[in-house]
Amino acid sequence: MSLLTLLRQGSSLADVDRQREILEDRRNTTLPQFQTVLAGNGFPVLQRRKLETLQVNVGKLCNQTCRHCHVDAGPDRRELMTRETFEQCLRLIRESDVKTVDITGGAPEMNAQFEWFVTEVRKLNRHVIDRCNLTILSAPGYTHFPQFLANHQVEVVASLPCYLEENCDSQRGNGVFRKSIEALKLLNTLGYGKAGSSLTLSLVYNPTGPALPPNQQKLEHSYREQLRQRFGIEFNRLYTITNMPISRFLDDLITSGRYVEYMTLLVSSFNRDAVDGLMCRATVSVDWQGYLYDCDFNQMLELPLANAPRIHISDVHIDDLNGQPIAVGRHCFGCTAGAGSGCRGALLEE
Ligand code: SF4
Ligand code: SF4
Repeated sequence: MSLLTLLRQGSSLADVDRQREILEDRRNTTLPQFQTVLAGNGFPVLQRRKLETLQVNVGKLCNQTCRHCHVDAGPDRRELMTRETFEQCLRLIRESDVKTVDITGGAPEMNAQFEWFVTEVRKLNRHVIDRCNLTILSAPGYTHFPQFLANHQVEVVASLPCYLEENCDSQRGNGVFRKSIEALKLLNTLGYGKAGSSLTLSLVYNPTGPALPPNQQKLEHSYREQLRQRFGIEFNRLYTITNMPISRFLDDLITSGRYVEYMTLLVSSFNRDAVDGLMCRATVSVDWQGYLYDCDFNQMLELPLANAPRIHISDVHIDDLNGQPIAVGRHCFGCTAGAGSGCRGALLEE
């Protein structure tokens, strides 16, 4: 069945993405399966250990439409987590030793329940991460968020794919760089990223094209020098994240004829030392409807928890998740290439 037919039949974009990945996989039989490479390296089954992080994707609504977005988010998306589903997330957090609640989207702040949810999670004394695109902090109706995040000691993890305006804007849209710089300055004035402050500001870099990220520590050093000298901006750390071959980035790869080239790079850069720290081994990801996945990437592919049909958060107890096998596919080579990659950057020091 063609992708166009799937779209005409009203299939979700995630269905189409999954179908497209399957078609690409069939075309590229020379590429090994991730599972086979894992087994060959002494990991017959990839299993979750103890759950430490609950990643909550609160919806696909966003004020931006970045080229590499793996969520396919944008201003016209209407998928948003409801209060009822947030309450189920809270129940799971309460029942568990989950240390970190990692909130992502879309632009998470655009979900009307965001402030209530953050307040409730902080009452439970868990660490909260807001994956913030920075530009939302100056959008009409959202300018109170910097102070809100500071008041609740939320870690801000902010995308800034380059310290050069042209590169940043080419990936994230015109004017994004300047707005991001203004937002970072504002966060600094509230104490974020400052020495001696408990407010953590982390930046995220991902390559603009089909290449592996450079060395995280060296790049962090360059970012610090550039942002400090040119704008007086301070931050705590930089995470480098490999572009995953899914969603909009997969579209780009296929359209430009570079899918096989990029996958070959990821496969040939497989690093068995990265397997131990894969984020799926300590994380579960919940989508805006409350369905559970091994990670945010599997969520985008609608690849459910291994050995199970789709599981809803309302049907699950924390003990059902610890020790479970993890669903993998060829996209997982993005997490094991080079220094490894996850939502908190490189998995290994180089
Ligand atoms: S800001 Fe983030 S969620 Fe929004 S379109 Fe860009 S990458 Fe996607
Ligand atoms: S994409 Fe990465 S984090 Fe997700 S299941 Fe595969 S290896 Fe784990």
